[in-house]
Amino acid sequence: MSKIKIKEQIFEVENAIENFPKYEKILKFHKEVLEILLPLDESIDSWVKIDLNKKTFECYLDEIITSKKSVNELIKKSDFDIIIITDIVKKIIEILLNNNANGDELRVFREYIEDKEVIVNNAISSILKEDTKWFESHSKKFGIDPSLLLLIFESPLRPFFEQLSRELEEEIKEIWLESYCPICGRQSNVARKKKNKRYMVCSYCGLEYLVDMFECINCGNIDPTKMGFIKLKENEEYELNYCKVCDHYIKILDEDLATVKIPYGLEDLLTRKLDVIASSSDFNLKRI
Ligand SMILES: [Zn+2]
Ligand SMILES: [Zn+2]
Repeated sequence: MSKIKIKEQIFEVENAIENFPKYEKILKFHKEVLEILLPLDESIDSWVKIDLNKKTFECYLDEIITSKKSVNELIKKSDFDIIIITDIVKKIIEILLNNNANGDELRVFREYIEDKEVIVNNAISSILKEDTKWFESHSKKFGIDPSLLLLIFESPLRPFFEQLSRELEEEIKEIWLESYCPICGRQSNVARKKKNKRYMVCSYCGLEYLVDMFECINCGNIDPTKMGFIKLKENEEYELNYCKVCDHYIKILDEDLATVKIPYGLEDLLTRKLDVIASSSDFNLKRI
């Protein structure tokens, strides 16, 4: 199941704040971002210039199946209303400032992008092309973590990619079989296991897609003797699958064993304890 609409995601986050109090702070931050994105989700055609009709979805589907490209490679920065995106970018920076993340650096950065849509345009273009150079150079220049910069600029496009994910998931879920997401091109590090099948869940657009149970999605190793599996004694539904060739791991939620439902869209966030275990000196594993 792909990601639900943002209005419903907000409702799920409110529930999660009650069910997972340990993650309250980060969930509240996540909710604030979703509230900023809500108007974008409710009027996609006011800021996306592509006609999102059945024919468009069929074209995308055709193209990704035949070329193995992901849909982001077929989209251009000019497909979005950059003024609306810039406004959302500024609102997200505002939330980060209210949450005390990189305060001084972010204030300088906010001034830098003020009335310079060309900068936002370049960032959006880099996201679509999966080109990390823009983020690395601006991270150095402003002293802001590249992942924070990425969050600032990729968030406004999320409702668009989630919409694509909802429209195309049924057709692509069982047949894609690549390690990267066919919608946004990203590599996820969390999967849901259902009836002994492993489905990656894209942390960005929410797409679920089947991957081989014994293939490392980082390096392609398919030797089962070089794969490791760690189950948590106290929470059997949580699992780490790792590769002994490249030392990378993915986090697994076994839906057939789950006692508390992990809401769609919050898989990566609510499995942070698995990241802590994986990176501990006992395992020394790397996050994808
Ligand atoms: Zn995706
Ligand atoms: Zn590997």
